[in-house]
Amino acid sequence: MSIISVRNVSYQYHEAGDQAVRNVSFDVEEGEFVAVLGSNGSGKSTLAKLINALFIPSEGTVTVCGMDTRDETKTWDVRAACGMVFQNPDNQIVATIVEEDAAFGLENLGVEPAEIRRRVDWALDAVGMSDYAQSAPHMLSGGQKQRVAIAGVVAMKPRVIVFDESTAMLDPVGRREVMQVVRRLNKEEGITILWITHFMDEAALADRIIIIDRGEKRCEGAPRAVFRQTGLIRESALDVPEMTALAAALRERGVMVSDDILTVDEMEAALKNIRAVR
Ligand code: ADP
Ligand code: MG
Repeated sequence: MSIISVRNVSYQYHEAGDQAVRNVSFDVEEGEFVAVLGSNGSGKSTLAKLINALFIPSEGTVTVCGMDTRDETKTWDVRAACGMVFQNPDNQIVATIVEEDAAFGLENLGVEPAEIRRRVDWALDAVGMSDYAQSAPHMLSGGQKQRVAIAGVVAMKPRVIVFDESTAMLDPVGRREVMQVVRRLNKEEGITILWITHFMDEAALADRIIIIDRGEKRCEGAPRAVFRQTGLIRESALDVPEMTALAAALRERGVMVSDDILTVDEMEAALKNIRAVR
Protein backbone atom coordinates (compact mmCIF):
# COMPACT_ATOMS: atom_id res chain seq x y z
CA MET A 1 0.00 0.00 0.00
CA SER A 2 1.30 3.48 -0.87
CA ILE A 3 1.98 5.79 2.06
CA ILE A 4 0.42 8.69 0.15
CA SER A 5 -2.14 8.17 -2.56
CA VAL A 6 -3.56 11.11 -4.53
CA ARG A 7 -6.39 10.05 -6.86
CA ASN A 8 -7.93 12.41 -9.43
CA VAL A 9 -7.75 15.27 -6.97
CA SER A 10 -9.02 18.76 -7.76
CA TYR A 11 -9.25 21.73 -5.47
CA GLN A 12 -11.04 25.02 -5.94
CA TYR A 13 -10.66 27.91 -3.48
CA HIS A 14 -13.86 29.64 -4.59
CA GLU A 15 -16.89 28.22 -6.34
CA ALA A 16 -16.56 30.64 -9.22
CA GLY A 17 -12.76 30.49 -9.51
CA ASP A 18 -10.33 28.27 -11.38
CA GLN A 19 -9.17 24.98 -9.93
CA ALA A 20 -5.83 25.48 -8.14
CA VAL A 21 -5.23 21.71 -8.43
CA ARG A 22 -6.73 19.85 -11.38
CA ASN A 23 -7.25 16.11 -11.60
CA VAL A 24 -3.87 15.21 -10.09
CA SER A 25 -2.96 11.59 -9.32
CA PHE A 26 0.24 10.10 -7.93
CA ASP A 27 1.49 7.72 -5.24
CA VAL A 28 4.39 7.89 -2.83
CA GLU A 29 5.78 4.61 -1.50
CA GLU A 30 7.16 4.14 2.00
CA GLY A 31 10.82 5.21 2.17
CA GLU A 32 10.78 7.20 -1.07
CA PHE A 33 12.13 10.72 -1.56
CA VAL A 34 9.82 12.38 -4.07
CA ALA A 35 10.18 15.96 -5.32
CA VAL A 36 7.22 18.01 -6.49
CA LEU A 37 8.58 20.65 -8.82
CA GLY A 38 6.61 23.63 -10.09
CA SER A 39 6.89 27.35 -10.69
CA ASN A 40 5.29 30.02 -8.54
CA GLY A 41 1.49 29.64 -8.37
CA SER A 42 1.48 26.15 -9.92
CA GLY A 43 -0.46 24.65 -6.99
CA LYS A 44 2.31 23.17 -4.85
CA SER A 45 1.22 24.59 -1.49
CA THR A 46 -2.40 23.73 -2.21
CA LEU A 47 -1.30 20.15 -2.86
CA ALA A 48 0.73 20.08 0.38
CA LYS A 49 -2.31 21.22 2.37
CA LEU A 50 -4.49 18.59 0.69
CA ILE A 51 -2.05 15.88 1.77
CA ASN A 52 -1.96 17.15 5.34
CA ALA A 53 -5.78 17.32 5.62
CA LEU A 54 -5.67 21.10 6.01
CA PHE A 55 -7.79 21.11 2.84
CA ILE A 56 -10.27 18.45 1.72
CA PRO A 57 -10.37 17.76 -2.05
CA SER A 58 -13.24 19.31 -4.04
CA GLU A 59 -13.06 16.14 -6.15
CA GLY A 60 -11.06 12.93 -5.84
CA THR A 61 -9.42 11.26 -2.86
CA VAL A 62 -6.26 11.72 -0.80
CA THR A 63 -5.17 8.78 1.36
CA VAL A 64 -2.32 8.99 3.90
CA CYS A 65 -1.19 5.73 5.53
CA GLY A 66 -4.50 4.23 4.45
CA MET A 67 -6.58 7.04 5.97
CA ASP A 68 -8.92 9.05 3.75
CA THR A 69 -8.35 12.74 4.59
CA ARG A 70 -12.10 13.26 4.17
CA ASP A 71 -12.72 11.15 7.30
CA GLU A 72 -12.89 13.77 10.09
CA THR A 73 -12.32 11.17 12.79
CA LYS A 74 -8.84 10.62 11.26
CA THR A 75 -7.70 14.23 10.80
CA TRP A 76 -5.32 14.20 13.78
CA ASP A 77 -3.97 10.76 12.90
CA VAL A 78 -3.24 12.02 9.37
CA ARG A 79 -1.35 15.01 10.76
CA ALA A 80 0.55 12.80 13.22
CA ALA A 81 1.59 10.44 10.42
CA CYS A 82 2.45 13.26 8.03
CA GLY A 83 4.44 16.22 9.39
CA MET A 84 4.83 19.53 7.56
CA VAL A 85 7.74 21.92 7.35
CA PHE A 86 7.04 25.32 5.80
CA GLN A 87 9.08 28.04 4.16
CA ASN A 88 9.78 30.54 6.88
CA PRO A 89 11.58 29.17 9.97
CA ASP A 90 10.70 32.32 11.95
CA ASN A 91 6.99 31.49 11.68
CA GLN A 92 7.53 27.95 12.93
CA ILE A 93 9.66 28.60 16.00
CA VAL A 94 7.59 29.25 19.11
CA ALA A 95 9.93 28.92 22.12
CA THR A 96 12.92 30.95 23.29
CA ILE A 97 15.24 27.97 23.79
CA VAL A 98 15.99 25.44 21.06
CA GLU A 99 15.20 22.29 23.04
CA GLU A 100 11.95 23.76 24.31
CA ASP A 101 10.97 24.54 20.78
CA ALA A 102 11.66 20.97 19.68
CA ALA A 103 9.58 19.72 22.64
CA PHE A 104 6.59 21.97 21.97
CA GLY A 105 4.46 19.57 19.92
CA LEU A 106 5.07 16.65 22.30
CA GLU A 107 4.16 18.77 25.32
CA ASN A 108 0.90 19.71 23.65
CA LEU A 109 0.14 16.03 23.21
CA GLY A 110 0.77 15.41 26.91
CA VAL A 111 3.67 12.99 26.33
CA GLU A 112 5.44 12.16 29.61
CA PRO A 113 8.59 14.20 30.40
CA ALA A 114 11.11 11.33 30.21
CA GLU A 115 9.84 10.36 26.77
CA ILE A 116 9.93 14.00 25.64
CA ARG A 117 13.57 14.20 26.80
CA ARG A 118 14.50 11.09 24.81
CA ARG A 119 12.70 12.16 21.65
CA VAL A 120 14.00 15.75 21.72
CA ASP A 121 17.60 14.58 22.22
CA TRP A 122 17.20 12.14 19.34
CA ALA A 123 15.53 14.71 17.05
CA LEU A 124 18.14 17.43 17.71
CA ASP A 125 20.86 14.88 17.04
CA ALA A 126 19.15 13.78 13.81
CA VAL A 127 19.25 17.37 12.51
CA GLY A 128 22.77 18.06 13.83
CA MET A 129 21.64 20.66 16.38
CA SER A 130 22.48 18.93 19.69
CA ASP A 131 25.21 21.46 20.46
CA TYR A 132 22.64 24.26 20.30
CA ALA A 133 20.03 22.68 22.62
CA GLN A 134 20.32 25.56 25.12
CA SER A 135 20.68 28.33 22.52
CA ALA A 136 18.19 31.06 21.72
CA PRO A 137 16.67 30.44 18.27
CA HIS A 138 16.93 34.10 17.24
CA MET A 139 20.72 33.85 17.54
CA LEU A 140 20.88 31.06 14.94
CA SER A 141 21.38 31.25 11.17
CA GLY A 142 18.42 30.62 8.85
CA GLY A 143 19.60 27.09 8.09
CA GLN A 144 20.02 26.31 11.79
CA LYS A 145 16.58 27.70 12.60
CA GLN A 146 15.02 25.60 9.87
CA ARG A 147 16.78 22.53 11.29
CA VAL A 148 15.27 23.30 14.70
CA ALA A 149 11.83 23.54 13.08
CA ILE A 150 12.52 20.16 11.42
CA ALA A 151 13.56 18.68 14.81
CA GLY A 152 10.18 19.72 16.24
CA VAL A 153 8.46 17.75 13.48
CA VAL A 154 10.85 14.77 13.67
CA ALA A 155 10.29 14.50 17.45
CA MET A 156 6.64 13.66 16.71
CA LYS A 157 7.86 10.54 14.82
CA PRO A 158 5.94 11.06 11.57
CA ARG A 159 6.23 8.43 8.83
CA VAL A 160 6.18 11.12 6.13
CA ILE A 161 7.33 14.73 6.13
CA VAL A 162 6.12 17.21 3.52
CA PHE A 163 8.53 20.12 3.01
CA ASP A 164 6.90 23.09 1.32
CA GLU A 165 9.74 25.19 -0.17
CA SER A 166 11.62 24.83 3.09
CA THR A 167 14.87 26.19 1.67
CA ALA A 168 13.43 29.09 -0.33
CA MET A 169 14.34 31.71 2.29
CA LEU A 170 17.80 30.34 3.07
CA ASP A 171 21.25 31.29 1.80
CA PRO A 172 23.24 28.66 -0.11
CA VAL A 173 24.93 27.36 3.05
CA GLY A 174 21.58 27.02 4.83
CA ARG A 175 20.04 25.29 1.82
CA ARG A 176 22.86 22.77 1.75
CA GLU A 177 22.59 22.10 5.51
CA VAL A 178 18.87 21.48 5.29
CA MET A 179 19.16 19.26 2.20
CA GLN A 180 21.82 17.14 3.91
CA VAL A 181 19.67 16.73 7.01
CA VAL A 182 16.61 15.79 4.99
CA ARG A 183 18.52 13.20 2.98
CA ARG A 184 19.86 11.71 6.21
CA LEU A 185 16.34 11.53 7.68
CA ASN A 186 15.28 9.65 4.56
CA LYS A 187 18.24 7.26 4.31
CA GLU A 188 18.96 6.62 7.99
CA GLU A 189 15.64 7.12 9.76
CA GLY A 190 13.53 5.77 6.88
CA ILE A 191 11.22 8.80 6.89
CA THR A 192 9.37 9.20 3.59
CA ILE A 193 9.95 12.65 2.08
CA LEU A 194 7.77 14.77 -0.18
CA TRP A 195 10.03 17.66 -1.15
CA ILE A 196 8.22 20.62 -2.73
CA THR A 197 10.50 23.03 -4.53
CA HIS A 198 11.11 25.24 -7.53
CA PHE A 199 14.86 24.53 -7.38
CA MET A 200 16.01 22.11 -10.08
CA ASP A 201 19.23 21.16 -8.31
CA GLU A 202 17.25 20.09 -5.23
CA ALA A 203 14.75 18.09 -7.24
CA ALA A 204 17.66 16.31 -8.93
CA LEU A 205 18.48 14.64 -5.60
CA ALA A 206 15.09 12.92 -5.35
CA ASP A 207 14.29 9.33 -6.32
CA ARG A 208 11.44 10.61 -8.44
CA ILE A 209 10.18 13.98 -9.66
CA ILE A 210 6.62 15.11 -10.31
CA ILE A 211 6.27 18.34 -12.30
CA ILE A 212 3.13 20.38 -11.81
CA ASP A 213 2.14 23.38 -13.91
CA ARG A 214 -1.02 25.48 -13.54
CA GLY A 215 -2.52 22.92 -11.17
CA GLU A 216 -1.92 19.89 -13.42
CA LYS A 217 0.61 17.10 -13.31
CA ARG A 218 2.79 17.36 -16.41
CA CYS A 219 5.13 14.45 -15.93
CA GLU A 220 6.59 12.06 -13.44
CA GLY A 221 9.75 9.96 -13.43
CA ALA A 222 13.39 9.58 -12.41
CA PRO A 223 15.27 12.92 -12.44
CA ARG A 224 17.28 12.12 -15.56
CA ALA A 225 14.26 11.02 -17.54
CA VAL A 226 12.35 14.14 -16.51
CA PHE A 227 15.17 16.63 -17.16
CA ARG A 228 15.72 15.22 -20.64
CA GLN A 229 12.31 16.71 -21.56
CA THR A 230 13.70 20.22 -21.91
CA GLY A 231 10.72 21.54 -23.89
CA LEU A 232 8.20 20.45 -21.29
CA ILE A 233 10.32 21.91 -18.50
CA ARG A 234 10.48 25.30 -20.21
CA GLU A 235 6.72 25.18 -20.89
CA SER A 236 6.24 24.65 -17.16
CA ALA A 237 8.16 27.91 -16.53
CA LEU A 238 11.06 26.04 -14.96
CA ASP A 239 14.77 26.26 -15.72
CA VAL A 240 16.49 23.24 -17.21
CA PRO A 241 19.55 22.35 -15.06
CA GLU A 242 22.54 24.21 -16.52
CA MET A 243 24.55 21.15 -17.51
CA THR A 244 21.50 19.47 -19.07
CA ALA A 245 20.88 22.61 -21.14
CA LEU A 246 24.53 22.72 -22.19
CA ALA A 247 24.41 19.03 -23.18
CA ALA A 248 21.28 19.68 -25.28
CA ALA A 249 22.94 22.68 -26.98
CA LEU A 250 26.06 20.63 -27.76
CA ARG A 251 23.98 17.81 -29.21
CA GLU A 252 22.12 20.27 -31.44
CA ARG A 253 25.51 21.30 -32.80
CA GLY A 254 26.50 17.71 -33.45
CA VAL A 255 28.64 17.10 -30.36
CA MET A 256 27.42 13.71 -29.24
CA VAL A 257 27.43 13.93 -25.47
CA SER A 258 24.89 11.92 -23.51
CA ASP A 259 21.42 13.45 -23.13
CA ASP A 260 21.16 12.66 -19.44
CA ILE A 261 23.90 14.84 -17.99
CA LEU A 262 22.92 16.59 -14.76
CA THR A 263 26.13 17.70 -13.03
CA VAL A 264 29.42 19.47 -13.83
CA ASP A 265 31.30 16.25 -13.01
CA GLU A 266 29.24 14.28 -15.53
CA MET A 267 29.79 16.96 -18.19
CA GLU A 268 33.52 16.90 -17.55
CA ALA A 269 33.61 13.12 -17.87
CA ALA A 270 31.55 13.25 -21.09
CA LEU A 271 33.79 15.90 -22.69
CA LYS A 272 36.94 13.96 -21.82
CA ASN A 273 35.60 11.09 -23.93
CA ILE A 274 35.15 13.25 -27.02
CA ARG A 275 37.96 13.29 -29.55
CA ALA A 276 38.41 16.19 -31.87
CA VAL A 277 37.37 15.02 -35.33
CA ARG A 278 38.49 16.86 -38.42
P1 ADP B 1 2.47 27.47 -5.29
O1 ADP B 1 2.60 26.98 -3.89
O2 ADP B 1 2.91 26.49 -6.32
O3 ADP B 1 3.11 28.80 -5.49
P2 ADP B 1 -0.35 27.75 -4.58
O4 ADP B 1 -0.82 26.39 -4.26
O5 ADP B 1 -0.03 28.65 -3.45
O6 ADP B 1 0.90 27.66 -5.59
O7 ADP B 1 -1.43 28.48 -5.48
C1 ADP B 1 -2.03 27.85 -6.59
C2 ADP B 1 -3.12 28.76 -7.16
O8 ADP B 1 -4.13 28.94 -6.18
C3 ADP B 1 -2.62 30.14 -7.53
O9 ADP B 1 -3.28 30.53 -8.70
C4 ADP B 1 -3.03 30.98 -6.36
O10 ADP B 1 -3.27 32.31 -6.76
C5 ADP B 1 -4.31 30.31 -5.91
N1 ADP B 1 -4.52 30.49 -4.45
C6 ADP B 1 -3.64 30.15 -3.48
N2 ADP B 1 -4.14 30.42 -2.25
C7 ADP B 1 -5.36 30.94 -2.45
C8 ADP B 1 -6.40 31.42 -1.59
N3 ADP B 1 -6.26 31.39 -0.26
N4 ADP B 1 -7.54 31.89 -2.17
C9 ADP B 1 -7.69 31.89 -3.50
N5 ADP B 1 -6.76 31.46 -4.37
C10 ADP B 1 -5.62 30.98 -3.87
MG1 MG C 1 3.78 27.64 -2.30
